[in-house]
Amino acid sequence: MSTEPALPSLPFLPFLPFALPEIGDEEIAEVADTLRSGWITTGPKARRFEADFAAFLGDEGLQCIAVNSATAGLHLALEALGIGPGDEVITTTHTFTATAEVVRYLGADVKLVDIDPATLCIDPAQVEAAITPRTKAILPVHYGGLAADLPALLAIARRHGLKVVEDAAHALPTTTGGRLVGTLDSDATVFSFYANKTMTTGEGGMLVTRDAALANRARVMRLHGMSRDAFDRFTAKVPSWYYEIVAPGFKYNLTDIAAALGIHQLKRARGFQQRRAQIAARYDEAFAGLPLVTPPLPAPSDLHAWHLYPLRLGDGAGIARDRFIESMFEQGIGCSVHYIPLHLHPYWRDRYGLQPAQFPHSQRAYERLVSLPIYTRMSDADVERVIAAVRRALQA
Ligand SMILES: *Cc1c(COP(=O)(O)O)cnc(C)c1O
Repeated sequence: MSTEPALPSLPFLPFLPFALPEIGDEEIAEVADTLRSGWITTGPKARRFEADFAAFLGDEGLQCIAVNSATAGLHLALEALGIGPGDEVITTTHTFTATAEVVRYLGADVKLVDIDPATLCIDPAQVEAAITPRTKAILPVHYGGLAADLPALLAIARRHGLKVVEDAAHALPTTTGGRLVGTLDSDATVFSFYANKTMTTGEGGMLVTRDAALANRARVMRLHGMSRDAFDRFTAKVPSWYYEIVAPGFKYNLTDIAAALGIHQLKRARGFQQRRAQIAARYDEAFAGLPLVTPPLPAPSDLHAWHLYPLRLGDGAGIARDRFIESMFEQGIGCSVHYIPLHLHPYWRDRYGLQPAQFPHSQRAYERLVSLPIYTRMSDADVERVIAAVRRALQA
């Protein structure tokens, strides 16, 4: 006889959250299989996830290195490129702090630049203007899932002898010029599998590179600077107890429990993108003619990952952004803002003496930006509910 007390039934919560992951039975079964297997940290499933990810990108020259966050992947990529004290890395002010903080981990300095207001991605002209003799790398972000202008950034990097590491936390799958982000000609690309990203492992990331030396260094630094990881030690023929520490590395390996989620999320990534694109298209259609600026679009033949739907209130909106978000909340819709630009945060502002006037496009966008819910678990009725709430907020 069951002694479990029945849980009280939850009140009906009509709130539509800003984001929700979509985890299916296959992911759950794979995690359960991992838990029963006896190997729960980095091992066969992480290996398989890396191989599947390389196959997904479809480029034989690439190496994929699974890590426990995109932040870790960005740190490893810059470390492997030799970024250190005295160096400068140029990135966009219009991003999450993780993009820039990794530069500081290494004792290097961050040079923040403004966005192109048409794309909300880093402005290549601003990048070129910010280059100094100390500049070592450019760190663009594919904001919201729209590709940054990599051809222009790579040309600048080539002219000035700089490295390029892409923050692709939003960009799975994104294409530019018909090529998937991850297969472009940068030094490294880093994806995020954080809970609200376009696919998730709870926490996780993937570092992708064609540079064999970078890949080798990142593999060693991902796990304590050990010359071989634990799985190798327990499966290789040489004595299983032997390893060498070649550097003070980090603890950035992805667990097999997380990789088990990733293997199945990756299979669904194309389908997820299609549903997100469908929601974005419905929003675009519904908001045409309203005092709103809908998000920038890629070329018709390219894919936008639609991690975010960053709407901007237009001049005639008649409502301030903060009040707009409050109204949406009162109507049961969760919204967010991407991003509070780095130049407004005390750490970045004070360290580099930054003023909003140095970043007019990011500042202006920030004051009008609101990210609407866009995720695969939204029903068509949920999408219509968001649209109706936006209309009502504008009328208020
Ligand atoms: C989420 C995010 C990151 C960090 O990803 P984690 O996997 O959480 O470390 C980095 N950059 C951008 C732009 C992000 O949105």
